[in-house]
Amino acid sequence: MTAPLAAAPAAEAVKKPPRMPGEKPSLVGLSRAGIGAELAAIGVEPKQIRMRTAQIWNWIYARGVTDFGDMLNVSKDMRATLDGAFTLARPEIVAEQVSEDGTRKWLMRFPPRGAGRPVYIPEIGRGTLCVSSQVGCTLTCSFCHTGTQKLVRNLTAEEIVGQILVARDRLGDFPDKSTPVGAAVPSEGRLVSNIVMMGMGEPLYNFDNVKEALLIASDGEGLSLSKRRITLSTSGVVPMIPRAGEEIGSMLAISLHAVRDDLRDILVPLNKKYPIAELLDACRAYPGLSNARRITFEYVMLKDINDSAADARELVRLLRGIPAKINLIPFNPWPGVNYQCSDWETIEAFSDIVNRAGYASPIRTPRGRDILAACGQLKSESERMRARERLALEAMMADSED
Ligand code: SAH
Ligand code: SF4
Repeated sequence: MTAPLAAAPAAEAVKKPPRMPGEKPSLVGLSRAGIGAELAAIGVEPKQIRMRTAQIWNWIYARGVTDFGDMLNVSKDMRATLDGAFTLARPEIVAEQVSEDGTRKWLMRFPPRGAGRPVYIPEIGRGTLCVSSQVGCTLTCSFCHTGTQKLVRNLTAEEIVGQILVARDRLGDFPDKSTPVGAAVPSEGRLVSNIVMMGMGEPLYNFDNVKEALLIASDGEGLSLSKRRITLSTSGVVPMIPRAGEEIGSMLAISLHAVRDDLRDILVPLNKKYPIAELLDACRAYPGLSNARRITFEYVMLKDINDSAADARELVRLLRGIPAKINLIPFNPWPGVNYQCSDWETIEAFSDIVNRAGYASPIRTPRGRDILAACGQLKSESERMRARERLALEAMMADSED
């Protein structure tokens, strides 16, 4: 399979959410300056804009309101004006599935074409939300289901932030309405405590929208997720890695998966453009790297492909000098794929070698496999949707394909 390497990533650079005629713009996903500009455009007085923006920001992101009518410290007239001009609507949930292990997967509709599937993984003391950056992916990693999806578009900042808001809504993770207006909303003890950009898509091919969304997610007066609890995973878009560090400042994960270029060229075809040595140089230079702030290297365990003891030793050699932890991911199969997951003993032996070299090498427990929510199983094709929803989605996709 040849990846579209010569061309720039084919996904559309959607800045503003695509809207139906007459649909109101959303204030979700805008920076403070963006909200201020929208308020100015509807005639809010310049001297009021800062204060109104701060109030609206708090209601949307700290309190999770979806209705301007609930913004109690905003005057009644202003609430009505805002309601007439804007929306706070979330992406629509088409389906929700709950796995035996408590993992939840939502199917969200992102008009006009496509759907995304954020996944929530509960663990003791924390919960991780796995967020998508694109519908589909322009890259074609040979072991990843998402890479087989034909339709690709960038998600907007509104749609990326929307995944977090919907998850908090559905989990009851926003403060309840009785919380006094203006009261501080603690960020501890939330069900969604961590975010990983590890759903569908390559986040560094949708940099501007991902940046905007993650800066909103980490804003201390809103969703308040610490940047240390936000991880951006990339398959290795080397030129964007320094910008991710400087402009977003989240934790970084690299989908490495192979220790030799000839094999990585097949597993992660982007490697032909940015080979392992260049990728690791970018990692060494990642801003803010330290033993307390390590890079996670993801390594999918593929039987007889990349799982030998020699591979493990080479991995250790390659990463020397980089503050790193290694996340071993048992391969999650999907219909029609030719790879198999390594045997459990092989994974443990691999993990032992990496561990003895001083690297933490947790084996990621597959979560949500029964609902195809595990890593690499996400695909927004609609086989698993109810027939009515599938037809509606297909109609939307067909409408917008020209
Ligand atoms: N595109 C980005 C982020 C999304 S993928 C990236 O590739 O990093 C999230 C992780 O799941 C990546 O490490 C990816 O390589 C891995 N993955 C993909 N398909 C998988 C599968 N079938 N089984 C296990 N992990 C998989
Ligand atoms: Fe895209 Fe990541 Fe899947 Fe590769 S592993 S096809 S980069 S989503």
